[in-house]
Amino acid sequence: MSAGVAHNWVYHSVMIRHVKLEGRIRTLEPLRVGMGRSEQPSAVTDMPVIRIKELSRGLEVPYIPGSSLKGLFRSAAQSLARAAGVRPEPCSGLSKDNCMVLKRVDGEQLGNLVDRLLRMGEFQRAINTFADSACLLCKIFGSPTYKSKVSFIDSYPIDDGGQLVSVPVSVKTGIAIDRSTGAVFGGALYRVEFVEPGALFTLSFTIHNLPNYALGLLSEIVELLNEGLLRVGGFKSRGFGRVKFEKVDIKVRHHLPISGSEEGLNALDSYDVPVMVKRSEVCDGLLVYSGSEAESLLKGLREVWRRYVSSTGKS
Ligand SMILES: [Zn+2]
Repeated sequence: MSAGVAHNWVYHSVMIRHVKLEGRIRTLEPLRVGMGRSEQPSAVTDMPVIRIKELSRGLEVPYIPGSSLKGLFRSAAQSLARAAGVRPEPCSGLSKDNCMVLKRVDGEQLGNLVDRLLRMGEFQRAINTFADSACLLCKIFGSPTYKSKVSFIDSYPIDDGGQLVSVPVSVKTGIAIDRSTGAVFGGALYRVEFVEPGALFTLSFTIHNLPNYALGLLSEIVELLNEGLLRVGGFKSRGFGRVKFEKVDIKVRHHLPISGSEEGLNALDSYDVPVMVKRSEVCDGLLVYSGSEAESLLKGLREVWRRYVSSTGKS
Protein backbone atom coordinates (compact mmCIF):
# COMPACT_ATOMS: atom_id res chain seq x y z
CA MET A 1 0.00 0.00 0.00
CA SER A 2 1.48 3.36 -0.95
CA ALA A 3 2.53 5.38 2.07
CA GLY A 4 0.12 7.99 3.30
CA VAL A 5 -2.74 7.18 0.93
CA ALA A 6 -5.45 4.90 2.22
CA HIS A 7 -7.43 2.99 -0.33
CA ASN A 8 -11.03 4.13 -0.44
CA TRP A 9 -12.36 0.83 0.82
CA VAL A 10 -10.69 1.37 4.20
CA TYR A 11 -12.92 4.40 4.84
CA HIS A 12 -16.26 3.92 6.53
CA SER A 13 -17.52 7.23 5.18
CA VAL A 14 -17.99 6.05 1.58
CA MET A 15 -20.24 3.46 0.00
CA ILE A 16 -18.47 1.39 -2.65
CA ARG A 17 -20.43 -1.84 -2.51
CA HIS A 18 -22.36 -4.04 -0.17
CA VAL A 19 -22.22 -7.81 -0.37
CA LYS A 20 -24.67 -9.97 1.54
CA LEU A 21 -24.36 -13.72 1.99
CA GLU A 22 -27.56 -15.51 2.92
CA GLY A 23 -28.41 -19.15 3.27
CA ARG A 24 -28.90 -21.87 5.82
CA ILE A 25 -26.68 -23.68 8.24
CA ARG A 26 -27.45 -27.39 8.53
CA THR A 27 -26.00 -29.18 11.54
CA LEU A 28 -24.42 -32.54 10.66
CA GLU A 29 -23.22 -33.29 14.19
CA PRO A 30 -24.36 -32.24 17.67
CA LEU A 31 -24.04 -28.47 17.99
CA ARG A 32 -23.21 -26.78 21.26
CA VAL A 33 -23.27 -23.02 21.58
CA GLY A 34 -23.53 -22.13 25.24
CA MET A 35 -22.23 -19.81 27.87
CA GLY A 36 -20.06 -22.22 29.83
CA ARG A 37 -21.21 -23.75 33.08
CA SER A 38 -24.51 -22.46 34.35
CA GLU A 39 -24.61 -20.68 37.73
CA GLN A 40 -27.98 -22.31 38.32
CA PRO A 41 -27.80 -25.86 36.97
CA SER A 42 -31.19 -27.43 36.23
CA ALA A 43 -32.14 -31.01 36.99
CA VAL A 44 -31.30 -31.85 33.37
CA THR A 45 -28.13 -29.95 32.52
CA ASP A 46 -25.44 -27.82 34.09
CA MET A 47 -24.25 -26.63 30.67
CA PRO A 48 -27.32 -25.35 28.80
CA VAL A 49 -27.25 -24.13 25.21
CA ILE A 50 -27.87 -20.43 24.71
CA ARG A 51 -31.53 -19.65 23.96
CA ILE A 52 -33.67 -16.74 22.89
CA LYS A 53 -37.41 -16.25 23.41
CA GLU A 54 -39.87 -15.25 20.72
CA LEU A 55 -42.43 -13.15 22.55
CA SER A 56 -45.44 -13.71 20.26
CA ARG A 57 -45.53 -17.46 20.83
CA GLY A 58 -43.39 -17.75 23.94
CA LEU A 59 -41.15 -20.08 21.96
CA GLU A 60 -37.68 -20.40 23.50
CA VAL A 61 -35.18 -21.64 20.95
CA PRO A 62 -31.45 -22.34 20.77
CA TYR A 63 -29.59 -19.95 18.51
CA ILE A 64 -26.09 -19.14 17.28
CA PRO A 65 -25.12 -15.54 18.19
CA GLY A 66 -23.58 -13.56 15.35
CA SER A 67 -20.70 -12.80 17.72
CA SER A 68 -19.88 -16.54 17.87
CA LEU A 69 -19.74 -16.75 14.09
CA LYS A 70 -17.65 -13.60 13.91
CA GLY A 71 -15.19 -15.00 16.48
CA LEU A 72 -14.96 -18.25 14.53
CA PHE A 73 -14.35 -16.44 11.24
CA ARG A 74 -11.77 -14.09 12.73
CA SER A 75 -9.72 -16.82 14.40
CA ALA A 76 -9.83 -19.00 11.27
CA ALA A 77 -8.86 -15.98 9.14
CA GLN A 78 -5.93 -15.30 11.45
CA SER A 79 -4.68 -18.88 11.09
CA LEU A 80 -4.98 -18.77 7.29
CA ALA A 81 -3.38 -15.33 6.95
CA ARG A 82 -0.52 -16.24 9.32
CA ALA A 83 0.14 -19.53 7.56
CA ALA A 84 0.28 -17.62 4.27
CA GLY A 85 2.79 -15.11 5.67
CA VAL A 86 0.56 -12.09 5.07
CA ARG A 87 2.13 -8.79 6.20
CA PRO A 88 1.64 -6.84 8.40
CA GLU A 89 1.52 -9.81 10.80
CA PRO A 90 -2.16 -10.61 11.50
CA CYS A 91 -3.30 -10.04 15.10
CA SER A 92 -6.03 -11.89 17.00
CA GLY A 93 -8.07 -8.76 17.70
CA LEU A 94 -8.26 -9.61 21.42
CA SER A 95 -8.04 -6.72 23.87
CA LYS A 96 -4.28 -7.03 24.57
CA ASP A 97 -3.38 -8.54 21.22
CA ASN A 98 -4.56 -6.19 18.51
CA CYS A 99 -2.71 -3.90 16.11
CA MET A 100 -3.67 -0.73 18.03
CA VAL A 101 -1.65 -2.06 20.98
CA LEU A 102 1.02 -4.11 19.19
CA LYS A 103 2.05 -1.93 16.25
CA ARG A 104 4.31 1.09 16.62
CA VAL A 105 4.72 4.01 14.24
CA ASP A 106 7.83 6.15 14.81
CA GLY A 107 8.05 4.70 18.32
CA GLU A 108 4.44 5.53 19.23
CA GLN A 109 1.75 2.94 19.84
CA LEU A 110 -0.58 2.88 16.79
CA GLY A 111 -3.72 3.24 18.94
CA ASN A 112 -2.31 6.29 20.76
CA LEU A 113 -1.22 7.89 17.51
CA VAL A 114 -4.60 7.34 15.85
CA ASP A 115 -6.43 8.69 18.93
CA ARG A 116 -4.16 11.75 19.00
CA LEU A 117 -4.73 12.46 15.30
CA LEU A 118 -8.50 12.06 15.76
CA ARG A 119 -8.48 14.49 18.70
CA MET A 120 -6.59 16.98 16.53
CA GLY A 121 -9.27 16.61 13.84
CA GLU A 122 -6.79 15.03 11.44
CA PHE A 123 -9.19 12.35 10.23
CA GLN A 124 -7.43 11.76 6.92
CA ARG A 125 -4.04 11.21 8.56
CA ALA A 126 -5.62 9.02 11.23
CA ILE A 127 -7.24 6.68 8.69
CA ASN A 128 -4.14 6.65 6.46
CA THR A 129 -1.95 5.76 9.44
CA PHE A 130 -4.34 2.96 10.39
CA ALA A 131 -4.47 1.73 6.77
CA ASP A 132 -0.68 1.65 6.46
CA SER A 133 0.02 -0.08 9.77
CA ALA A 134 -2.89 -2.29 10.84
CA CYS A 135 -3.18 -5.88 9.65
CA LEU A 136 -5.70 -7.04 7.06
CA LEU A 137 -7.81 -8.72 9.76
CA CYS A 138 -8.26 -5.45 11.68
CA LYS A 139 -9.47 -3.87 8.43
CA ILE A 140 -11.93 -6.73 7.87
CA PHE A 141 -13.15 -7.50 11.40
CA GLY A 142 -12.42 -4.22 13.16
CA SER A 143 -10.21 -3.06 15.96
CA PRO A 144 -10.66 -0.69 18.91
CA THR A 145 -11.83 2.59 17.29
CA TYR A 146 -12.27 0.94 13.86
CA LYS A 147 -15.63 -0.60 13.01
CA SER A 148 -15.90 -4.10 11.53
CA LYS A 149 -16.70 -4.32 7.83
CA VAL A 150 -18.42 -7.67 8.32
CA SER A 151 -21.64 -7.96 10.34
CA PHE A 152 -22.86 -11.40 11.32
CA ILE A 153 -26.56 -11.70 12.11
CA ASP A 154 -27.70 -14.15 14.83
CA SER A 155 -28.72 -17.54 13.36
CA TYR A 156 -32.13 -18.89 14.40
CA PRO A 157 -33.55 -22.39 13.97
CA ILE A 158 -36.04 -22.67 11.09
CA ASP A 159 -38.08 -25.31 9.30
CA ASP A 160 -37.82 -26.04 5.55
CA GLY A 161 -40.20 -23.16 4.89
CA GLY A 162 -38.00 -20.70 6.80
CA GLN A 163 -40.32 -20.36 9.83
CA LEU A 164 -38.83 -20.16 13.33
CA VAL A 165 -39.16 -23.55 15.02
CA SER A 166 -38.01 -25.29 18.12
CA VAL A 167 -35.32 -27.87 17.40
CA PRO A 168 -34.60 -31.07 19.34
CA VAL A 169 -31.98 -30.81 22.05
CA SER A 170 -30.42 -33.61 24.10
CA VAL A 171 -28.05 -33.91 27.00
CA LYS A 172 -24.85 -35.90 27.03
CA THR A 173 -23.12 -36.84 30.26
CA GLY A 174 -19.36 -36.95 30.35
CA ILE A 175 -16.54 -37.09 32.81
CA ALA A 176 -14.59 -33.89 33.45
CA ILE A 177 -10.89 -34.41 32.78
CA ASP A 178 -8.21 -32.04 34.03
CA ARG A 179 -6.51 -30.89 30.83
CA SER A 180 -3.11 -30.39 32.40
CA THR A 181 -2.83 -33.70 34.26
CA GLY A 182 -5.28 -35.90 32.36
CA ALA A 183 -6.75 -36.96 35.71
CA VAL A 184 -10.48 -37.20 36.38
CA PHE A 185 -11.76 -34.34 38.57
CA GLY A 186 -12.84 -36.33 41.65
CA GLY A 187 -15.43 -38.24 39.63
CA ALA A 188 -16.98 -34.98 38.42
CA LEU A 189 -19.61 -35.37 35.75
CA TYR A 190 -20.86 -32.73 33.38
CA ARG A 191 -24.19 -32.78 31.61
CA VAL A 192 -23.82 -30.87 28.38
CA GLU A 193 -26.83 -29.83 26.37
CA PHE A 194 -26.64 -29.78 22.57
CA VAL A 195 -28.80 -29.36 19.46
CA GLU A 196 -29.40 -32.64 17.64
CA PRO A 197 -27.84 -33.06 14.17
CA GLY A 198 -30.10 -32.29 11.21
CA ALA A 199 -31.27 -28.88 12.48
CA LEU A 200 -31.50 -25.91 10.14
CA PHE A 201 -30.47 -22.38 11.10
CA THR A 202 -30.65 -19.10 9.25
CA LEU A 203 -27.38 -17.69 7.90
CA SER A 204 -26.80 -14.05 7.03
CA PHE A 205 -23.87 -11.70 7.02
CA THR A 206 -23.20 -8.42 5.31
CA ILE A 207 -19.91 -7.04 4.08
CA HIS A 208 -19.24 -3.36 3.51
CA ASN A 209 -16.60 -2.23 0.96
CA LEU A 210 -14.20 -5.18 1.09
CA PRO A 211 -11.85 -5.96 -1.82
CA ASN A 212 -12.10 -9.35 -3.52
CA TYR A 213 -9.03 -10.82 -1.82
CA ALA A 214 -10.60 -10.13 1.59
CA LEU A 215 -13.90 -11.62 0.40
CA GLY A 216 -11.81 -14.56 -0.84
CA LEU A 217 -10.41 -15.08 2.66
CA LEU A 218 -13.99 -15.27 3.98
CA SER A 219 -14.83 -17.68 1.15
CA GLU A 220 -11.91 -19.91 2.21
CA ILE A 221 -13.50 -20.14 5.67
CA VAL A 222 -16.90 -21.04 4.20
CA GLU A 223 -15.11 -23.81 2.29
CA LEU A 224 -13.33 -25.07 5.45
CA LEU A 225 -16.70 -25.24 7.24
CA ASN A 226 -18.32 -27.11 4.36
CA GLU A 227 -15.44 -29.59 4.27
CA GLY A 228 -15.70 -30.23 8.02
CA LEU A 229 -12.20 -28.86 8.63
CA LEU A 230 -13.67 -26.07 10.74
CA ARG A 231 -16.51 -26.55 13.22
CA VAL A 232 -18.95 -24.34 15.08
CA GLY A 233 -19.43 -24.08 18.85
CA GLY A 234 -17.92 -26.10 21.68
CA PHE A 235 -16.82 -29.71 22.23
CA LYS A 236 -15.32 -29.83 18.75
CA SER A 237 -12.72 -32.41 19.76
CA ARG A 238 -15.54 -34.69 20.93
CA GLY A 239 -17.32 -34.88 17.59
CA PHE A 240 -19.46 -31.76 17.86
CA GLY A 241 -19.91 -28.80 15.55
CA ARG A 242 -19.80 -29.99 11.94
CA VAL A 243 -22.15 -27.94 9.77
CA LYS A 244 -22.82 -27.29 6.11
CA PHE A 245 -23.90 -24.07 4.44
CA GLU A 246 -26.88 -24.67 2.14
CA LYS A 247 -28.85 -22.62 -0.39
CA VAL A 248 -26.28 -19.84 -0.36
CA ASP A 249 -27.28 -16.66 -2.19
CA ILE A 250 -24.89 -13.77 -2.63
CA LYS A 251 -26.41 -10.35 -3.17
CA VAL A 252 -24.31 -7.46 -4.40
CA ARG A 253 -25.18 -3.80 -4.50
CA HIS A 254 -22.70 -1.61 -6.34
CA HIS A 255 -22.39 2.05 -5.49
CA LEU A 256 -19.82 2.60 -8.25
CA PRO A 257 -20.33 1.79 -11.91
CA ILE A 258 -18.51 -1.42 -12.86
CA SER A 259 -16.92 -1.97 -16.24
CA GLY A 260 -17.77 -4.86 -18.56
CA SER A 261 -21.06 -6.49 -19.40
CA GLU A 262 -20.61 -9.67 -17.38
CA GLU A 263 -21.29 -8.13 -13.97
CA GLY A 264 -19.48 -9.27 -10.89
CA LEU A 265 -17.06 -7.81 -8.42
CA ASN A 266 -14.56 -5.24 -9.63
CA ALA A 267 -11.09 -4.72 -8.17
CA LEU A 268 -10.94 -2.20 -5.30
CA ASP A 269 -7.19 -1.59 -5.08
CA SER A 270 -3.95 -2.35 -6.87
CA TYR A 271 -3.62 -5.80 -5.20
CA ASP A 272 -7.14 -6.76 -6.16
CA VAL A 273 -8.39 -8.71 -9.19
CA PRO A 274 -11.93 -8.55 -10.59
CA VAL A 275 -14.19 -11.60 -10.40
CA MET A 276 -16.66 -11.51 -13.24
CA VAL A 277 -19.51 -14.00 -12.96
CA LYS A 278 -22.89 -13.43 -14.57
CA ARG A 279 -25.58 -12.88 -11.93
CA SER A 280 -28.58 -15.21 -11.70
CA GLU A 281 -31.02 -12.31 -11.55
CA VAL A 282 -31.38 -8.67 -10.63
CA CYS A 283 -33.81 -7.96 -7.80
CA ASP A 284 -34.48 -4.43 -6.49
CA GLY A 285 -31.17 -3.25 -7.92
CA LEU A 286 -29.23 -6.09 -6.28
CA LEU A 287 -27.23 -8.54 -8.37
CA VAL A 288 -28.28 -11.94 -7.02
CA TYR A 289 -26.05 -14.99 -7.37
CA SER A 290 -27.68 -18.33 -6.52
CA GLY A 291 -26.80 -22.01 -6.89
CA SER A 292 -23.92 -22.62 -9.31
CA GLU A 293 -23.44 -18.86 -9.89
CA ALA A 294 -22.93 -18.34 -6.14
CA GLU A 295 -20.46 -21.25 -6.11
CA SER A 296 -18.57 -19.78 -9.09
CA LEU A 297 -18.37 -16.42 -7.36
CA LEU A 298 -17.07 -17.96 -4.11
CA LYS A 299 -14.53 -20.03 -6.06
CA GLY A 300 -13.38 -16.99 -8.05
CA LEU A 301 -12.93 -15.04 -4.80
CA ARG A 302 -10.83 -17.83 -3.28
CA GLU A 303 -8.57 -17.69 -6.34
CA VAL A 304 -8.10 -13.94 -5.82
CA TRP A 305 -7.16 -14.53 -2.18
CA ARG A 306 -4.62 -17.21 -3.18
CA ARG A 307 -3.15 -14.91 -5.79
CA TYR A 308 -2.97 -12.06 -3.25
CA VAL A 309 -1.15 -14.35 -0.82
CA SER A 310 1.36 -15.54 -3.40
CA SER A 311 2.15 -11.95 -4.46
CA THR A 312 2.28 -10.36 -0.99
CA GLY A 313 3.02 -13.24 1.40
CA LYS A 314 6.32 -14.89 2.22
CA SER A 315 5.87 -17.66 -0.36
ZN1 LIG B 1 -4.61 -6.41 13.46
